[in-house]
Amino acid sequence: MYDYKCEYCEGTVRPKKVKREAFKHKTGFVILEEVIIGVCDLCGTRYYSADILHAVNDIATGTRPFDKTEEIPVAHLSQA
Ligand SMILES: [Zn+2]
Repeated sequence: MYDYKCEYCEGTVRPKKVKREAFKHKTGFVILEEVIIGVCDLCGTRYYSADILHAVNDIATGTRPFDKTEEIPVAHLSQA
């Protein structure tokens, strides 16, 4: 499902297993652990398969069970 040409450079998108990857969703964030994503071997752009994005959406909307919830630090950086 990977090993295709990068959209942004001449590199090739390779499958890479990562310990954890955070996904932004309209209702917040979802973190997937031990997930295989695509990473360009030249520029490092990350690609996610439709399966992964579906899983993120299902978890975020509560239709797919998940293992745990973690608190995420939030900071507001005011312009000086
Ligand atoms: Zn690239």
